[in-house]
Amino acid sequence: MGKPHAVCIPYPAQGHINPMLKVAKLLHSKGFHITFVHTEYNHKRLLKSRGPNSLDGLPDFAFETIPDGLPPTDADATQDIPSLCESTSKTCLAPLRHLLSKLNNSTVGIPPVTCVISDGVMSFTLEATEEIGIPNVLFWTTSACGFLGYVHYANLIAKGLTPLKESQRASKASAIILNTFDDYEFEHDVLSDLSSILIPPIYSIGPLHLLLKNIPQNGLDSIGSNLWREELECFQWLNSKKSKSVVYVNFGSITVMTPKQMVEFAWGLANSEQEFLWIIRPDIVKGKSAMLPHEFVEETKERGLLASWCPQEQVMNHPSIGGFLTHSGWNSTIESVSCGVPMVCWPFFAEQQTNCRFACSEWGIGMEIDNDVKREEVEKLVRELMEREKGEKMRSKAMELKNKAKEATTSSHGSSYLNFNKLVDEVLVP
Ligand code: UDP
Repeated sequence: MGKPHAVCIPYPAQGHINPMLKVAKLLHSKGFHITFVHTEYNHKRLLKSRGPNSLDGLPDFAFETIPDGLPPTDADATQDIPSLCESTSKTCLAPLRHLLSKLNNSTVGIPPVTCVISDGVMSFTLEATEEIGIPNVLFWTTSACGFLGYVHYANLIAKGLTPLKESQRASKASAIILNTFDDYEFEHDVLSDLSSILIPPIYSIGPLHLLLKNIPQNGLDSIGSNLWREELECFQWLNSKKSKSVVYVNFGSITVMTPKQMVEFAWGLANSEQEFLWIIRPDIVKGKSAMLPHEFVEETKERGLLASWCPQEQVMNHPSIGGFLTHSGWNSTIESVSCGVPMVCWPFFAEQQTNCRFACSEWGIGMEIDNDVKREEVEKLVRELMEREKGEKMRSKAMELKNKAKEATTSSHGSSYLNFNKLVDEVLVP
């Protein structure tokens, strides 16, 4: 039999592309030929942020593009997520069919496509894979607890309790994968609830970046996915700081806040008197460029560093990072857990509130900021995180989870390690 060939189709936003790329690399290490599908818009942005050769790939790791259905633009900004969801679900099926048939008719020695790994919110791909009779695994890049929330939402719709109509397409997937790990102290209960509700088998294979550390890189490490240019200067600054002394602040790739929220938050952070690295995306403030009060910049210039994008996994692993102020996106949360860093959570949308609730009430590694943010509250929580007993308790809980995450991914008996092998043997190359 020839090489298996997996086509990986992420939803075209940063928090979905990053974990999908990791799954693609892991499959590559199992001998798969990989075709990774970006939208034309993101392809262009990646060439800009990472350099003109950054998407050349490797002989058996190739990139392809499809249009996202939105009007063309040269902006380097987060696309409007609801419009992007609508346009991908309405317009991407035809270009995908075309791509699959091009790959299958290739005369240049590419093996025929044997499976598709598709983001959970790109489930239109199931139609294309059903037509050619190959497995399609849906990757939900959320937490298991957040995904369970979405599954219950579908039940509310089915019961007529909410007016939206949604298809039950996801139940036709060959399997579902999640970037989490199966541990009683973490998402075990939620994962078993999901297994009892859903038809496809569920494989928890996270934290993906830890699983990825086990495999020989063979050039894979040069393939990246950051849509913004990484500002590496922050490492020099971090190197000059004491162990666990810096608060790292990042609200991810999509979140936008009002100018008022930004200013209130900034003064809370300044008044906490802690050292901080704050990553401020240029498009983080609704409708205008992100401007901080001049007095804030003056007052904190000795102890704060501002940047617009960084390689977060590396930053979070830096010994000087003592706490994380996050919007509770799932990638950020699982990256924090993997590094044993406690959090102050300020969730905005999607399943971020669920992630926050679990981080604070179930896992004991976070404290929540109210959405109607007040500077006094930010100051108090950041001080607790960095200086007080509560922060210390959360830090030791986070360290326990870090060890469990490591065990799940690096030990030969680890649940994520075993689940990934099972996914390949049971679903992708049965
Ligand atoms: N990220 C990064 N540098 C930044 C901000 C974010 O590398 O300055 C990465 C982060 O490591 C994570 C992803 O972007 O993998 C953000 O995903 P998450 O689910 O946390 O949030 P979203 O952007 O989807 O809201």
